[in-house]
Amino acid sequence: MAENGVNSGTATFDKPKVELHVHLDGAIRIETILDVAKRRGITLPATTVPEMTSLCSMDKPGTLTEFLGKFNQYMHVIAGDREAIKRIAYEFVETKAKEGVIYVEVRYSPHLLANCRVEPIHWNQKEGDVTPDDVVHLVNEGLKEGEKAFRIKARSILCCMRHMPNWSMEVVELCKKYRNDGVVAIDIAGDESLNCETCPLHREAYEEAEKSGIHRTVHAGEVGPSSVVREAVEVLKAERIGHGYHTIEDEVLYKQLLEQNMHFETCPVSSIMTGACDPDFTKHPLIRFKEDKANYSLNTDDPLILNSTLDSDYQAAKQYMGFTEEEFMRLNINAAKSCFLPEKEKKDLLNQLYEAYGMINDTSF
Ligand SMILES: [Zn+2]
Repeated sequence: MAENGVNSGTATFDKPKVELHVHLDGAIRIETILDVAKRRGITLPATTVPEMTSLCSMDKPGTLTEFLGKFNQYMHVIAGDREAIKRIAYEFVETKAKEGVIYVEVRYSPHLLANCRVEPIHWNQKEGDVTPDDVVHLVNEGLKEGEKAFRIKARSILCCMRHMPNWSMEVVELCKKYRNDGVVAIDIAGDESLNCETCPLHREAYEEAEKSGIHRTVHAGEVGPSSVVREAVEVLKAERIGHGYHTIEDEVLYKQLLEQNMHFETCPVSSIMTGACDPDFTKHPLIRFKEDKANYSLNTDDPLILNSTLDSDYQAAKQYMGFTEEEFMRLNINAAKSCFLPEKEKKDLLNQLYEAYGMINDTSF
């Protein structure tokens, strides 16, 4: 692990990478939280980076509840503050550039960072003047400035929350409004036991997304069973699956998704720390994905809470799951092919990778 969420020393896979599954609000720098708290006059239970790190991150595998509890430690510092929201987006791009990422899709719930025109207002905030729409605008500004400064490409995905079905229609409307301004897709995150039968508003939002040509990914089969993955594909018309580890428990569905070339956004370190998968990496579903030449990517998910970097995930894959340089190249090419950029930009991204990987005249992938 390294300071600032940035690798020090040599990366496990020291070539350009693509990251598709990372939460902006789970990728904030500890220094920034402390700094913003000071400026806003918010008292935190910790005042140093090591103390605050141990409050905000997990040092051993736990439960998803424990994991989600970590957001309570710092979200009230960032939410509702224009400068802070823009800053975390800008710094996020810097971190990714240092990790060797050349294209990233970063996701967040605009509602969880707002303090106005949102019901309920989260994190015990008082009502303010930052609406979900303002949040998207601010994040876009931060990402765009970051792109210019650090010369990589960053796009965003807006998240619905499973326990907040009444936000979902607004999420898809924001995706439509900002589709030519950095937002590339819709996602749904949170408690997988809240399916679309219990919350039909999510289904309606995803129908609207499909109708409007908004790309769709869904957190499914992370902690929840394979039936959530089936619902994501069949009801929500997901084009990618966030995590999807438990898909392999339904051989028929798994085979079908392999045939469809469905993309799985896997997050190895996260999957262990949240209890989604067995803590023994040598039994990880990702090994099956690799053996079956499935279409998947490697991602950090929430590096702040996991106290990790993208290299931690690559290292786990190499050290415990037998990943080779070839497989790292293959999965990054698959990530690029499965990203939500328009075709022309996707082609450019792929060409950048082919060139960096020395595969310009190689059609084996
Ligand atoms: Zn996630």
